[in-house]
Amino acid sequence: MTRTPIVAANWKMNLTLDESRRFINDLVPQLIRFDNVERVICPTFIALPFVADRLEDTPLKVGAQNVHWETSGAFTSQIAPPMLQGLAEYVIIGHSEVRQYLNETDEIINRKVKAALAHGLKPILAVGESDALNQAGSTHEFVSGQLRAALQGVSGEQMQQIVIAYEPIWAIGTGRNATGEFANEIVKNTVRGTITELYGETIAQTIRIQYGGSVKSSNMEEYMQYPDIDGALVGGASLKVDEFVRLVEITDQIKG
Ligand code: PEP
Repeated sequence: MTRTPIVAANWKMNLTLDESRRFINDLVPQLIRFDNVERVICPTFIALPFVADRLEDTPLKVGAQNVHWETSGAFTSQIAPPMLQGLAEYVIIGHSEVRQYLNETDEIINRKVKAALAHGLKPILAVGESDALNQAGSTHEFVSGQLRAALQGVSGEQMQQIVIAYEPIWAIGTGRNATGEFANEIVKNTVRGTITELYGETIAQTIRIQYGGSVKSSNMEEYMQYPDIDGALVGGASLKVDEFVRLVEITDQIKG
C-alpha cells in the first residue's frame, strides 16, 4: 500500500499578518517542487484567508488550527466549520496545547472530528501521552483510548479522510524528540493497530500517520525511514523557511 506522505506546518500563535505574508511568499517558490509529498500550511485564523489565496494555484494545501463543532451561534471567539470551507482543506483537531490550555476533552474532540467531516474538512487528529504516562509505561493504553474516543461514530469511509498525528506531549516544543524506534512502535502498533481493530486492516493501511514533536532537519531522516511513519506535524521548525523546506525535501527523498 502506498500512502502519499504528508508534512504539515503548524504555525501555532506565531506570525502577524504582515509576517505571514512575507513568510509564505518566501516559502512557496521553494516548496513547489516536491510533488510527491503533500504539504499543508496551518496559519493563524487571521492569516488564513491570505494564505489560502496565495496557495490557491499551487499544489500546497491549507489547514486551520482548530474548529468549533457547531455550525453557527453564540460561541464568542470561535470559528465554525462552514467558515473554513473554501479556505482550508485540513483542520488540526485535538492538539495537546488545545487539550491542555483550552480544556478540550475527548468528547469535544470527537464532536469536532465529526463536524469537520460533515463539512468536508479533513481532520489532522492529534494524540499523544504526557511525560508521566510515558514514564509509567502507559503510552499504548492512553493513545489507543484517545483514538477510540475521538473516532466514535466515525464510519470507515469517513476515516479515510483523517490523518493522525502521534505527538508525545513531552516532545512538543521541548527539543526532546522521541527516538525513531519509539515513535515507530507507537505509530505502527498503537495507532495503526487501534485503527485496524476499529476499521480492519484494509482501511488501516490507507491511513496516514504523522509523527510530531521537536522534528527538525537533523532528526527527520530518523523518522522517515520507518514505512509506517507517513510524514510529520511540525511546529517550531515550520517557522524557518529553510528548515521546513529541508523537512519536505528529506521526506521526498526517502518516501517520494
Ligand atoms: C506541534 O505543534 O504540533 C509540534 C510538534 O511542535 P514542535 O515541532 O515545535 O515540537
